[in-house]
Amino acid sequence: MFQRKLASFSEEKEVHLWFVERFSVGHLLIYLESHSSSKRNLQSVLVMSAHSWELGEKRNVSMEVIKVSPRGYCYGVVDALQVVQQAVKDTRVPRPIHILGQIIHNRHAVEEFTALGVITLDGPDRMDLLEQVTGGTVIFTAHGVSPLVKARARERGLHCIDATCPDVTVTHQLVSTLAQQGYAILYIGKHGHPEPEGVLGEVPGQIFLVENEADVDALAPELQRRERLAVTTQTTLSQWDTKQLIAYIKEQYPHAQVHIDICPATQKRQEAVASQAKGAELTIVVGDPRSNNTNRLVQVSEEVAGVPAVRIEDLSQLRPEWLAGKKRIAVTAGASTPSHLTREVIRYLEAYDPHTAQTENLVHMRRG
Ligand code: SF4
Repeated sequence: MFQRKLASFSEEKEVHLWFVERFSVGHLLIYLESHSSSKRNLQSVLVMSAHSWELGEKRNVSMEVIKVSPRGYCYGVVDALQVVQQAVKDTRVPRPIHILGQIIHNRHAVEEFTALGVITLDGPDRMDLLEQVTGGTVIFTAHGVSPLVKARARERGLHCIDATCPDVTVTHQLVSTLAQQGYAILYIGKHGHPEPEGVLGEVPGQIFLVENEADVDALAPELQRRERLAVTTQTTLSQWDTKQLIAYIKEQYPHAQVHIDICPATQKRQEAVASQAKGAELTIVVGDPRSNNTNRLVQVSEEVAGVPAVRIEDLSQLRPEWLAGKKRIAVTAGASTPSHLTREVIRYLEAYDPHTAQTENLVHMRRG
């Protein structure tokens, strides 16, 4: 029955468009094969794709959209989301269900769980957040928490579920082992991010958070009296920045033992932007402002690929004037960005034409 596949729209699910026949001037009959999309999504896809196809045929020009791959959800995020979904479904899990911090750094994902009755407690100190919980279940996020927070939750009789990413757990175990061996540890990470808070809580007094050279300098009196020194990292840093700071540390402390713990998912997404965005006129990074790995993708595009970049949370933040005169745009997404948000941006760009009223309608439709 199908004649030609036009596009595959989903990375994880089977959603394909098939061109079947032209049934009137300017219109195509398109069959959508889908096993997962909602009816509303199907309609959008049909309208936009038919429009895009028609414009492409008439004008024979279109914007090239580089879909950087891999992008979006990493295994740690997928696991954490599944943990919460299973807790919601399982009636044996004590209510109310709380998440200690944002389960992943994405407002859309948090809102979806809020709609299911899950309470997200958000704030800079997770021990403080824990004190707000009077009963039920507490879920620890993918970023990991300190042993003190876990112990306090159990002490208070809460049902605990741990959604810490296995790659973060590796760092917790590493610093614990290094501290037992007598090492002082420089941990390269971001001040105010929950992942460093959890790792630092493993071995307080033995580990020091540094973000830049000034932080390292300020620790000189402490570090100079330590015989054994090790360096490790947050999982979501820029690998290029990290190498520079490690080189600086090694200049001061040549004996420092180095363990780079940037996770494979972060590395692959950064390397993909560095190589695939080259030659684009703009990189659009879809992700939450609090997502460290999202912000690092912006930085990699600008500093490594040499391509200006903008970060948007979703299509509603995309400004058409950014696209004026552009022929080649790269799109990527942070590891905590839901795939459908990125797909909407890609579809919009593929259908974009500043000279047609139809596209203007499309803008309003997507933002309505
Ligand atoms: S970015 Fe890396 S460390 Fe963070 S959740 Fe994903 S896989 Fe785990």
